[in-house]
Amino acid sequence: MVKAIVGANWGDEGKGKITDMLAEQSDVVIRFQGGANAGHTIINGYGRFALHILPSGIFYPHITNIIGNGVAVDAAKLVDELEGIVAQGVPAPRLIVSERAQLLMPYHTLQDAYEEERLGGRAFGSTKSGIAPFYSDKYAKTGIQICDLFHEDRLGERLTAALAIKNVLFEHLYHKPALKADELMDQLLALRERLRPYVGDAVGFVHQALKEDKTILLEGQLGSMKDPDLGIFPMTTSSHTLAGFGCVGAAVPPTSVKDVICVTKAYSSNVGSQTEPFVSEITGQAGDELRRRGGDKGEFGATTGRPRRVGWFDTVATKYGCMVQGATQVALTCLDVMGYLDEIPVCTGYEIDGKVTDVFPTTPDLLRAKPVLTTLPGWKSDIRGCTDYQSLPENARAYVDFLEEHIGHPITMVSSGPRREEMTYRATKLA
Ligand code: GDP
Repeated sequence: MVKAIVGANWGDEGKGKITDMLAEQSDVVIRFQGGANAGHTIINGYGRFALHILPSGIFYPHITNIIGNGVAVDAAKLVDELEGIVAQGVPAPRLIVSERAQLLMPYHTLQDAYEEERLGGRAFGSTKSGIAPFYSDKYAKTGIQICDLFHEDRLGERLTAALAIKNVLFEHLYHKPALKADELMDQLLALRERLRPYVGDAVGFVHQALKEDKTILLEGQLGSMKDPDLGIFPMTTSSHTLAGFGCVGAAVPPTSVKDVICVTKAYSSNVGSQTEPFVSEITGQAGDELRRRGGDKGEFGATTGRPRRVGWFDTVATKYGCMVQGATQVALTCLDVMGYLDEIPVCTGYEIDGKVTDVFPTTPDLLRAKPVLTTLPGWKSDIRGCTDYQSLPENARAYVDFLEEHIGHPITMVSSGPRREEMTYRATKLA
């Protein structure tokens, strides 16, 4: 049985915590898209960790963690991250890196940085981790699969072919030095040896696990808004952030996905650049205060350290985000963060050219949307660490009821703190 844990919004919804929590009863955890460009924060008995590419099941010795074929594998970062957590006292994890996954190459990172530099003020605010050039090359069929590392003649040919294109771009568009195939080849062969113990047939492993009735978690990165097809294109990422893509990126059959847990936060946050539409944004002092109080250490990117933009909960974006994920249940995180507010506005509509809608629009309309806010009373108390939903203040429960009614998907888990055990379970009020 497969469960997907995915984001309803712009990422940073707290998926890492939910995955870490559900991993206990699971056998396999798979990352199926993205790369080392975002991060999950996990706090457990070993300490506080920002994972960038490793799956969140990595802290449990009984779990097999898989880097699926859909992931952009920055092999050096992957092995460094693995060695880093082991150095912090975590037992050496079980990890399979799919031999079908492709390598994020040094020239992808360079191209990403050069392109941002070329675009100047029109830049997308890329994390410069090479993700966009990586996926462009994958679909242009010039990418290099991990299995190619073990066939040196083929690797050499593919590298030469890739560099023939990259070097024209580097020298003539970006006016930067060309790369040398033999130097890259040496780097790749050294990396191959570090990666070798983990490379394997993830597709066969996953299908065997399903035959044996194992529980598999798919762990998404970012959220619905960042999907290149159904999100806020082009301010999206370059791989699909939807549970549906898990079937491709983790190689699980669509019929095996029984549960899609969509994670959303009690307020909004967005690590994207200022040019990105973010309708319910809170600016000024009120925004600074929420940013400082958000998450477990304030709302700052786990990978980039960038201050995240913050906003009120947006039911228009979240309803759409849950819909396109096919959410079977919703986990609401960070309710504890809201305890300082006298009243809490919620964005329940978008005003576009004088008309109010609750249907999430395409980007040109989204850029003109203004928030329509409904204000609810706060609960003015500290609920951090609460584990019994019914014991939450009435106004806190009313806030959750209101969000559920507006997003139209069942909120079954309400998180009261960053730690694994800080969680409450709720009976949905939806028919
Ligand atoms: P992810 O990428 O979706 O896993 O999200 P991140 O880990 O980047 O961001 C979520 C932040 O919120 C992290 O700092 C978590 O430790 C923290 N967090 C998760 N759930 C809760 C919660 O219920 N309350 C609080 N205060 N922090 C939480």
